[in-house]
Amino acid sequence: MSGFEIEMAGAYGMCFGVRDAVAAVEELAGREAVTVLGELVHNEVVLDRMKRLGAQTGSLGAPGAGTREVVVTAHGASDADKERWAGRGHRVTDTTCPLVRKAHTALAQLVAGGCAPVVIGKAGHVEVNGLVGDFPGARVVLSEREVEALPFAAKIGVVSQTTQPIERVEALVAALRRRHPEAEVIFKDTVCQPTKRRQEAMDQLCVRVEFVLVVGGANSNNSWQLVEKARRLGCRAERVARPEEVKEHWFYGCRTVGVTAGTSTLREAVEEVVGRLEEIGGRRRGAVAGRKSEVAGSEVGKEVAA
Ligand code: SF4
Repeated sequence: MSGFEIEMAGAYGMCFGVRDAVAAVEELAGREAVTVLGELVHNEVVLDRMKRLGAQTGSLGAPGAGTREVVVTAHGASDADKERWAGRGHRVTDTTCPLVRKAHTALAQLVAGGCAPVVIGKAGHVEVNGLVGDFPGARVVLSEREVEALPFAAKIGVVSQTTQPIERVEALVAALRRRHPEAEVIFKDTVCQPTKRRQEAMDQLCVRVEFVLVVGGANSNNSWQLVEKARRLGCRAERVARPEEVKEHWFYGCRTVGVTAGTSTLREAVEEVVGRLEEIGGRRRGAVAGRKSEVAGSEVGKEVAA
C-alpha cells in the first residue's frame, strides 16, 4: 500500500486521575493482597498489568472480597458503598479522581439547595452509579427523549458524567429548559478538563486528517466518544487497544491518519500502535509547535486545578 502521514492529536492519552489510581494500586499490590472493586480503568492493557501484579478484581456490589485491602476506582463510588465496605472490616483505599469528587460535591450542593437532581450520563456506568448512589431520587438522562420525560420541579439541579462531550451536555440542558420553562434549572459543568481537551484536540485534528485511530479500551466511554466525534466531523474512525488489532485495509487510499487515545490509555500502548502504523506505511509528521502530550504528564498541574 502507498504511504500515509501520521499526525498525533494535540492532547491524548492517560489523564492524571487514572495515572494516580494505577500508581496507587501498583504500590499497594507490591505490599499486600488487594482487591480492586470494579475495573480500575476501562483498558485491557492496564488491567493485564494489574493482574500480573497480583491485584484481584471484585465488585462494589459483591457481598465481600478475599482480601482485607479493597480499592475504590478512579470512577468513584457512593458514600453508602464505601461505608458498607468499611463496615465489613475492609480497609478501603479510595482512588476516586478529584474531578469525579468535584461532580459528587456539586450534586450534593444542588440537592442541599432544594434541587431535584439530574445527571447527564450513561445509566449503569460505574461513575454514574457512584454519583446517584447517595441520591435515590436522582434521574439519569442521555437523550432528548429522556429529558422530555423528566417531571416538573420548581428547582432542577444538573451535573454531568465527567467524560460526556460538553456539546451534548449543553444541548440537553437547553432541552430541559425548553421542556420546563417555568422551572429554575441550575447547571454545574462537571465535564472534566482532560476530556474537554481531548475533544477540542479532535476538532483540530479532524480538519487535517481523513482517518482517526483511537487507542483505548473496548469498555472505555471516553474512547468511544472520541470515535463518535471523529465520525460526526466527517472522518473515518476506528478504535483499537493493541497493535495487533490494527487492520491494514482501513488505510487503503488514505493519505493522512490522526492518532489519539482515551484517558485510560498508557503511553506505551499508543507508541506500540503508532509503531504498527509505521510498519504498514505510516510516517510521523513533525511535531506541531506548542503541542503537549498529556500522557507525559506535562499538564498535570493544570488538570488538577481545572
Ligand atoms: S477522565 Fe477526567 S474525571 Fe475521569 S479520571 Fe480522568 S481526569 Fe478524572
